[in-house]
Amino acid sequence: MSSYDVVVVGAGNAALSAAMAARENGASVLILEKAAEEEKGGNSYFTAGGFRFCHSGIEDAAADVLTDLSDAEREQIVLPVHDRNTFYDALMKVTHHQSDEDMAWRLIDGSRPAMVWLKSHRIRFIPMFGRQSFKVEGKHHFYGGVNIEAVGGGAGLVEMELAEALRMGCEIRYSSGATRLLQNQQRRITGLEVRGADGYEEIEAKAVVLACGGFESNPEMRVRYLGPGWDLCRVRGTRHNMGDGIRMAMDIGARPYGNWSGCHSVGWDISAPPYGDYEVLDNFQKHSYPWGIMVNLNGERFVDEGEDLRNLTYVKFGREIMSQPFRTAVQIFDQKTIPLLRDEYRIKQVTKYTANSMEELAGELEINPQALAGTVAAFNAACQPGENNPSILDGVTTEGLAINKTNWALPINEPPFEAYVTTTGISFTFGGLRIDDVGAVQDLSDRSIPGLFAAGELVGGLFFENYPGGSGLMAGTVFGKRAGEGAAEYVNGGA
Ligand SMILES: Cc1cc2nc3c(=O)[nH]c(=O)nc-3n(C[C@H](O)[C@H](O)[C@H](O)COP(=O)(O)OP(=O)(O)OC[C@H]3O[C@@H](n4cnc5c(N)ncnc54)[C@H](O)[C@@H]3O)c2cc1C
Repeated sequence: MSSYDVVVVGAGNAALSAAMAARENGASVLILEKAAEEEKGGNSYFTAGGFRFCHSGIEDAAADVLTDLSDAEREQIVLPVHDRNTFYDALMKVTHHQSDEDMAWRLIDGSRPAMVWLKSHRIRFIPMFGRQSFKVEGKHHFYGGVNIEAVGGGAGLVEMELAEALRMGCEIRYSSGATRLLQNQQRRITGLEVRGADGYEEIEAKAVVLACGGFESNPEMRVRYLGPGWDLCRVRGTRHNMGDGIRMAMDIGARPYGNWSGCHSVGWDISAPPYGDYEVLDNFQKHSYPWGIMVNLNGERFVDEGEDLRNLTYVKFGREIMSQPFRTAVQIFDQKTIPLLRDEYRIKQVTKYTANSMEELAGELEINPQALAGTVAAFNAACQPGENNPSILDGVTTEGLAINKTNWALPINEPPFEAYVTTTGISFTFGGLRIDDVGAVQDLSDRSIPGLFAAGELVGGLFFENYPGGSGLMAGTVFGKRAGEGAAEYVNGGA
C-alpha cells in the first residue's frame, strides 16, 4: 500500500495551495485528481484568475505582488485602495452580514500574505486591464475590487501552481478519484480509498486535505439542495465536482455548514454546452448588463441592472434568471454603450441578434413586439439627465418605474440595437463543511476530526446568497495554504 504524510484530494487552486504549503512544511504529499490530465485544474482552470485582496493602491500592490510592472506602466494605472474594511464591507454587504465573522477576517487578513506567498512560489500577476478598468484621460481607472489576475488567467494559474508543486516534490495521480475516508478506532484518519483506471485501491495517509470542489456538477444534488429547476442550468466549469468531498466527510460525521441552498451562478450564453468548454473558458458569461437593460421573454425588466458595480450583482442576477420564463434573459444595448461591452461579447460562439427597431428585434427574439417596444419606451422616458461614468456609481437613474435602474441609466435609442440571449450558468455551491482556524474539519459536536482538513469550494460559511467577485480563488489560497500547514503540523505532532 502506498503511504504519504498528506494526501490532498483535488488539483484546483485550493488543493494546489494546500499541497505546496504541506510540502513546504516538510510533509510528503500526494495529490489525487479524479479528472484525466487533459481536464486538469477543476473550476480554477476556467476562471479569469482574478483575485480580491487587501492593498492600498498601485504603489503598494506593485511592491510585492505586481512586481513585473515598469515605472511607466505604474503611472498609467489608477487603482483604488482596497483595504481590510473595503473587503469586509463588500463581503458583508452582498451576504447580508451572514458570512461567518471569524472566517471573513481570516480571509481578509490572510489575503495579502497569501498573494505574496503565491508570488514567492513563482505565480505571476498582472492588472486586469481588459475587464476591470476604463481608460479615462489616458489612464486606466480600475474599479470594483477585483483588479489583479494571474498571468494566463485561470489556466495560467493552474499551470504555474502545478509546476511549482511538482518542482517542490509533490506527486500527482490523475484519473484517481477519492471515494472513501479511512479511520482507526480513535477516529484518526489513516488514509483513503481511491478509484483509478484499474479499480479500487487504499492509500495510507497521516492526514487528508479535501479540496475537491462543491456539488455544482451534480444535477441530483443541485435539485436536492438548490431547489427545483436547478437540474436544468448550465455548468460553467468542470464536470467532476460531484460533491464527493462533502459526502465522504459527512459519511464520517462532519458538520454541514453555510448556505446549502445558495450558489454562485451568472448570466451565461444560452447556446453554451452543458459543462465548461476548454477553449471558450469563461467567455460564455455576459457581464456588461449594467450598460443596457435586461428583459425576460415577456419583454419585461426584472432587476435593477444598475443596482451596484457588476462585481457585486452578477451572482445574484444569475440566480434571478432561473426564476424567469424558460430561465432566459435578454440583454439589450444601443450604439452608445456597445463600445463598452467586455471582450466576451465579441467571441464567435455568441447568441446575438441585431436590428434597427425594437419591434424588429423582438421578432428575432420571439418576444411580443408591443411588449418589448413598450418596456423600452417607458424606460427611455424615465431616464433622468446626468453625467454617465461607467467606472463609478454615477447616480444616473430612471424615475417612476416599478423597477428603476439606479445607475448608468441611458436611453436605449441609437440603433442598430444588439441583443444577447442568456440563461443561468452555475459556477460553484456555497454550502459545505465546517473548518476551524487551522483548516481542520469539524464534526457534529464541533470537534476536529483528527487528520482531516479542508479548503476551497467545499467549505461552507463564507458566502451566502451572493458573492463579491474574486473571493473564490482568494479563499481557496488562504484556506488551502492554512489547511496544508495545519495538516503538516498535525503530522509532525503539533495538533
Ligand atoms: C467560469 C468560472 C469563472 C470563475 N472566475 C473566477 C475568478 O476570476 N476569480 C475567482 O476568485 N473565482 C472565480 N470563479 C470561482 C472559482 O472557480 C472557485 O472559487 C475556485 O476555483 C474553486 O477552487 P477549488 O480548488 O475549491 O475547486 P476546483 O478548482 O473546482 O478543484 C476541485 C478539483 O477536485 C477534483 N475532484 C472532484 N472530486 C474528486 C475526487 N473524488 N477525487 C479527486 N479529485 C476530485 C476536480 O476534478 C477538480 O479538479 C470562477 C468559476 C467559474 C466556473
